Amino acid sequence: MNLTQALHHGLRERPHQTATVFRKRRQTYTQFVERVARFAGLLQGVAVKRGARVAILSLNSDYYLEYLYGCFWAGAVINPVNIRWTVNEIAYSLDDCTTAVLLVDDTFKHLIEPLRTLSSSLQTVIYIGEAACPEGMLSFTTLMQDAPAVPDANVNEQDLAAILYTGGTTGQPKGVMLSHANLCSDALSAIEVFQSGKMVTGLLTVPLFHVGGIAVLIQLITRLSTAIVLPSFSSKAVLAMIEKEEVTECFLVPTMIKMLIEDSDFAKYDTSSLIQIFYGAAPIDSNLLNRAITQFPRTDFAQVYGMTELSPVVAVLPSWYHTVDGQKQGKLGAAGRPIPNAEIKVVNEVGEEVASGSFGEIIARGPMRMMGYWNKPKQTAKALRNGWMHTGDAGYIDADGFLYVVDRLKDMIVTGGENVYSAEVENAILTLPQISQCAVVGVPDDKWGERVHAVVVLRDGQTINDQAIITHCRKIIAGYKCPSSIEYRSALPISAAGKILKYELRDPHWQGRSRKVG
Ligand code: ATP
Ligand code: MG
Repeated sequence: MNLTQALHHGLRERPHQTATVFRKRRQTYTQFVERVARFAGLLQGVAVKRGARVAILSLNSDYYLEYLYGCFWAGAVINPVNIRWTVNEIAYSLDDCTTAVLLVDDTFKHLIEPLRTLSSSLQTVIYIGEAACPEGMLSFTTLMQDAPAVPDANVNEQDLAAILYTGGTTGQPKGVMLSHANLCSDALSAIEVFQSGKMVTGLLTVPLFHVGGIAVLIQLITRLSTAIVLPSFSSKAVLAMIEKEEVTECFLVPTMIKMLIEDSDFAKYDTSSLIQIFYGAAPIDSNLLNRAITQFPRTDFAQVYGMTELSPVVAVLPSWYHTVDGQKQGKLGAAGRPIPNAEIKVVNEVGEEVASGSFGEIIARGPMRMMGYWNKPKQTAKALRNGWMHTGDAGYIDADGFLYVVDRLKDMIVTGGENVYSAEVENAILTLPQISQCAVVGVPDDKWGERVHAVVVLRDGQTINDQAIITHCRKIIAGYKCPSSIEYRSALPISAAGKILKYELRDPHWQGRSRKVG
C-alpha cells in the first residue's frame, strides 16, 4: 500500500478522466501522472534522494498537486509550509526537518532572501510562479520541460510520506510524521464510510499545507475523481466554482460554512449540484449547522473528527444521522462513530476507560495513527502511550457508541473545582441573534481559580449588554458555566485553518501567572 498506487489505478481505469482543474488548465489522469513522473525526475535532477524532505510555500494550485504526488512518486517526503507563518517560523520548520529544496510561488517569492539568511538547511529554491524566474532560483517551467519521466519509486507502506505541522491552534505547531500507510488507510476508510466509490467533482477549499487539504486530495485521487483547485478561500469564488463546475462535494471548516451562508449573494448562485458537504476540524455550533442544513436543502452533511496526528479522520457522522429537531435517528451534535480500523475510547486521568456518558480524554488508535512527532521524542512519548494517540480533546461516548467532542482539554475551564467546557457556553451564547461569533476562555480569579470569560463579536448594527447575555445563558446552562465577564471585539483571531486562536484571547489575562491546563 502506498499513495501512488491510486495513480496507476487511474491510468488503468480512467485515463481520460479529468484529474485536476485550476483556472484555465485542465488535465486528465494520463496527463497528470505523466507530469507527476516528470516532477519526480526534476527532483532527482536537483539531487533529492529517497526520504529527503521537500518544502512548498504556495497558494493552492494544480502545481501543488503535482508537487505532492511527485514527491510520493520519487519517494521524497512532503513538508508543506503554512503560508501564514512568519519567515522565522518557516526557517524553523525547514531547519527542523533539514529541508534543502523549497518550491515557491509568486505570492511568497519576496520571503526567499530573508529565508536564505535565516535557514541553514535551505539550498535550492524552485520558482513555480508565472512571471520571469527571479535571479538565484531555478525555474520550475524550464526544469519540467527537460525533466525525464522516471519510474515510480514504489516505496514501502511504512516509509515516511509527509511531515505535516499541526494547526498551531494551541501553541507551537509540531511536525507530525505520517507514513504512506497512515494516509492511505485513512483515505480508504473514509471512502468506505461515505459509501461513495462514485466519481465525484471535488472542490478543494482548504489550504494544501494543512492535513485537511491533503486528505481531501488523496481521497479524490483514490476515487479517481476530479479535483478542482482554487488559490485560496473566498465565499464568492467557492459559490461561483460550485455553480460553474457543478461541484458535487467539498470539505468546509465551520468558519467557511458561516461565510458561505452569510454571503449576501448566496441565493444568486446555483449550488444544487452539491451532493455532500463534509465539515469538521473545529466545533460547529448547532445553530450554524441547522441554518446550513436549511440553506443547502439538497445537500447531505457529514461531520469528520480527527487531527493531523491521525491522518486526520477517526470518526464520521454520516448524513443519515443529521436529522434536524431531534427525530429518532438524529445525532446532531455528535462528532460521529469510529471509521473502519479506528478504535476510539474515552479515558480518565489514570488511563482507565470511563463508562458511557462520562467525560474524559479521547484516545484513538489504528493504522492512521502517526509514526510520531519529528524531532520531539518527549512529546511523542506523551502523545503515544501503549499504541494509543492521546488527542488532548475532552469528550464522551453515548450509549449508542457516538462520540461527542466537548472541548480541548487546554480550553476547558476549571472554576471552583467544576469543569466548564467552553464549547457548551459558546453554543448557549450563540443562540442570541445579536451575536455573530464567540469564544469562551478561562481567566484568573482569586476566589474560584478561574472564571468564565466570553469574547463576542456582534452582528452588524446590533447592540446588547453584559447582563442580557448572562441572563440569557442562565436560562440554558447552569449558573457556574455562565460567563462572569464579557469582552466585545470586532473580530476574533483565526488560524490559517480557520480555527479560533483562543490562547491569543486568554494569555494576556494570565501574564505572570501559571495556568493549570489539561
Ligand atoms: P495544534 O495541535 O498545533 O494546537 P490543532 O490541534 O488545531 O493545532 P489539527 O491537527 O489541525 O491542529 O486539529 C485537530 C484538532 O481539531 C482536534 O484535536 C480537535 O480539537 C479539533 N477538531 C477536529 N475535528 C473536530 C470536530 N469534528 N469537532 C470538534 N473539534 C474538532
Ligand atoms: Mg492538536
